[in-house]
Amino acid sequence: MTVLLNSGPWLPVPPPGYGGIENVIAALVPELRRRGVRVVLATVGRSTLPVDERISAHENGRFGELQRPFNQVAGVAAAHLHRIVTELRRRDDIVLVHDHQEVFGPTVLGALGPDGPPVLHTLHWDLRKHPEFYGAVDGGGSLWVNGVSASQMANAPAALRAISVGHVHLATPLAVGADRRAPAVDKAGHLVVLGRVTADKGQHVAAEVAHRTGRDLVLAGPIGPHDHPSELATADAANPDVRYWREQVEPLVDGARVRWIGTVTGRERDTLLQSADAALFPVGWDEPGGTAVVESLALGTAPVGYRRGCLPELVDDGRTGLLVEPGDIDGLAAAASGARLIDPRVCRREATRRFTPARMAQQYLDFYDQVIALGGRPVPVRSTADV
Ligand code: UDP
Repeated sequence: MTVLLNSGPWLPVPPPGYGGIENVIAALVPELRRRGVRVVLATVGRSTLPVDERISAHENGRFGELQRPFNQVAGVAAAHLHRIVTELRRRDDIVLVHDHQEVFGPTVLGALGPDGPPVLHTLHWDLRKHPEFYGAVDGGGSLWVNGVSASQMANAPAALRAISVGHVHLATPLAVGADRRAPAVDKAGHLVVLGRVTADKGQHVAAEVAHRTGRDLVLAGPIGPHDHPSELATADAANPDVRYWREQVEPLVDGARVRWIGTVTGRERDTLLQSADAALFPVGWDEPGGTAVVESLALGTAPVGYRRGCLPELVDDGRTGLLVEPGDIDGLAAAASGARLIDPRVCRREATRRFTPARMAQQYLDFYDQVIALGGRPVPVRSTADV
């Protein structure tokens, strides 16, 4: 059976650095293919993930434009979806579309109704975003959604919950064999925040904690479209993440106690995370899926953060990480200092048990079955290669 998986036009799969959704898709696709699913990946031309077929409207990832005004970037998203619709019109072997493109994906693909395959749309965001759409969406029997944590779906508008098939916890390849992986590096005593530099991820709180506790903090991740400190001199001051950096984070960054090193990738990223005493998540939003949280567990580094969003679902407080009440910076500072007491082996074991790509893929196959049974073409999803 053939599934069209839409990862959107923003980044290649796998991503060259930052990219939560694209990392998840890079973990999901090999597992689907191992189970006999043919995957048509709608992505950008630069993607290198092995798939059965690839379609694209854009050669390069357009992430750098994502925060530009709507009337400048709507065409990027529209062109990508237009390419998908054209493909769906031209063939009838695709039994399901698994979509990851925010808002536009369910709008366009869901609107095909009986003229297209059924659609499962994965909700990756805080569902308070786009209230006009999420509050009124009607699946029409062919569009279904899934969340990425129970807490995210619990707060979803009723219209979304009415077309939800449930939630799945995310995974990236790091969890595979994490419990058998020998620690490649010793703990170096620093703290880390891995993620977009943006108010939702709370880098300013992490910097405050570093200064209060006298512990070194490394901030890794892009600021808006900028991956490297050398790009900041010419950064667009109107970009909301650039503004957050300039106003709230940069004043606390001294290049010694607190450093921003830009986007990291591959072994550099893993070593940075693995050698940290704690990965900080002082989130300023209800973190919906927490890819970086499960990666931290997989690398044997305790997540330490605020008890909100998906964090209490992913982190077993006191055993695999430490959580404090949102806004409790003193508590966070104490937890950051106490993180050494969390056993890295327990974190890695938890990642291997709960957050593997195989487990995620199995859950998605169950959702595919449900969606096809609910409104789609009756093709069995599971193959005998099921593992
Ligand atoms: N990431 C990375 N390098 C960086 C910063 C982030 O590879 O410098 C990856 C990180 O490993 C994770 C993803 O980008 O897989 C961020 O996903 P998350 O869900 O935490 O963030 P969001 O999607 O909310 O921006």
